[in-house]
This record gives sequence, C-alpha cells and structure tokens, in this order.
Amino acid sequence: MRRIEEVLDGAGRICILGHIHPDGDCVGACLGLYNYLKSACPEAQVTVHLEPFSEYFSFLQGTEQVDHAFPELPPYDLCFVMDCGDRERLGPTVKYFDSARRKVCVDHHITNQGFGDVWEVQPDASSACEVLYSLLDPAQISRDTAECLYLGIVHDTGVFKHSNTSRRTMEVAGQLLEKGISPAYIIDETFSKKSFAQNKALGRALLSARLWLDGRLVAGVITARDMEELGLDSRHLDGIVDQLRVTDGAKLAVFLYPSNESQQEWKVSMRSNDKVDVSRIAVSFGGGGHVKAAGCTLRGEWTAVVDQVAALAEQQMRETE
Ligand code: AMP
Ligand code: MN
Ligand code: MN
Repeated sequence: MRRIEEVLDGAGRICILGHIHPDGDCVGACLGLYNYLKSACPEAQVTVHLEPFSEYFSFLQGTEQVDHAFPELPPYDLCFVMDCGDRERLGPTVKYFDSARRKVCVDHHITNQGFGDVWEVQPDASSACEVLYSLLDPAQISRDTAECLYLGIVHDTGVFKHSNTSRRTMEVAGQLLEKGISPAYIIDETFSKKSFAQNKALGRALLSARLWLDGRLVAGVITARDMEELGLDSRHLDGIVDQLRVTDGAKLAVFLYPSNESQQEWKVSMRSNDKVDVSRIAVSFGGGGHVKAAGCTLRGEWTAVVDQVAALAEQQMRETE
C-alpha cells in the first residue's frame, strides 16, 4: 500500500481499532487517522473503538468521539487496525474486525505476520504513527492530525531516545513540527508528567525489584493487592519498566502486573538494553512485540515467571557471547 486513499474505495462506514490497554502510539495512530479521514473523506462515517486510555491524551482532537462501550453494530465497510501485532490483541473490539467487509492493518511490530486483507507493517519504523505518516498526503495533514502522530512517536521512542529512533523518525517529527504543534506541551503533559498514583506505583515496583543472572536481569512487580491498595489500573503503570531498564549493569528489565483477564495471570513487559532479543522470548510464550520491547502473559508465582524469562535470556546471552 502506498497511500491510505488506495484502500478507501468509497467506503461509507469505517471503523478504527487498536490494541488492548492503548498506549500513546496506539491512541495517536487511531486518532491521527480519524482526524485525517474526517478532512480527506468528509462523506464517510468514521468511528474509533478503543479501551479507555490515559486522560493525559484527552486534549487530542476526536477523543470525545471515541467509543469505549463497544455496542453491537452492523458490519463496517472498512476496518483499520493500528499498532496491533495480531488479531487477539484487539480484545473486545475484535467483533468489529471480524465482521468488517475489508480489513487493513497499519503496524510496526516485528512479530506481526500480517493479518486482514491488506497490511502495511514496517518493523524498522519507530511507531505505528511513523508508518501511518508514510501513507498520508503530507499536504492534507492538519495540526490536529500532526499532534496525534507526534504524540505517538514521542511515546514509542521515549522522546527520541530509544534505539528505534532513526533519521526518518526525526525527519517525520520535523515535518509534523511545521504543522504548528507544541512539542514541549506534548512531551511534558503526556509523557513526563506522572500522577500521584503513577509515582506511588513506580515506587512500589522499584522497592519490589530483584536481580537475576548476576545483575544482568532486573525485575519488579505490582501485585493485585498493590493495585487495590494504591487504587491503580493498568494505565498507571506505563514507564515503570523503563525505569527498571536504566539500572546499571542490567541488560534486561522485566516488569509484571496482574493481567486484566484473571488475577492468576501476569502481564509481562520486557525491555532489552543489549543483544537479547525480547521479541523472541515473548513469542515463545505466545506474546509479541519488538526486538528491544516486547510483552506476553504468563501464570505462576512472580519469581517463577521471571525464572522462566531469565532462562531464555541466558540462553540467548550464551549464543551471542
Ligand atoms: P509493553 O511492555 O506492554 O509496553 O509492550 C511492549 C511492546 O510489545 C509493545 O509494542 C506491545 O504492543 C507489544 N506487546 C506487549 N504484550 C504483547 C502481547 N501479549 N502480544 C503481542 N505483543 C505484545
Ligand atoms: Mn502500542
Ligand atoms: Mn507502537
């Protein structure tokens, strides 16, 4: 696919979906496409269906029109899936995907094998927002759309810091700046700022941290009890794994928190500083992601879960030594 316009094909009813627990890139890509389509094809009826997301994103144009209730609806003509590596990660919105007449996927997960009818997956791109930018007509990108895309890039690159930041990422960000957005506002208000609850969660997770593999792996946890005691939900936990990751000597950081679906299950977030490919570890446990950032879901005592991850990480470390 070269341009998003190629797949529109006169579609009257369009929906836009993203992954469960939507992060900045997911929200930015969904609302970026929403705002673009609103002006590029005003005759179409476009709806975004997403799980609830951080209130810090609510200044983005279109947030108020996002549906979080997932009612039963007639099939859509066209369904876009943004920043989602596989069908299962669509969670409760998968029904709109399954019933849609045409399905288009825009993504950057290395573990995305392609699904739907048409897909544009660029594993080298920093973010789904960077992939989406490559499919849009730059002249038709409004300030509102640019804000969404810039926010997504900022979040998935940790403010242009992670190794997924390329020359192209910077060039796209530069083009978006020229649309009149306020980068300082987006970075400070949606990325750096932490609520009191978020900071308490960070503190609790750091205090729980332990080292594995002679300090090459650091892991921390937030338990269901912590969540209840501190009044947390999964939206408060973004960025904790990144703080674990900067531990001196750590090649790998792992963060666990209770998965939504069940109290017995952990959502496992992994980050690599070095040669370990965490997407391989995630895939072997049925998850996915990127070489340096990936996730999966696992059951058991939290330290036993980390033992399993550590065994695979150690195996990779030995292979690359
Ligand atoms: P997280 O640690 O949740 O920030 O996720 C890191 C990256 O891995 C993100 O790009 C996620 O979309 C992806 N990811 C996380 N969990 C899963 C999973 N269970 N299946 C597939 N991809 C995942
Ligand atoms: Mn994402
Ligand atoms: Mn992403």
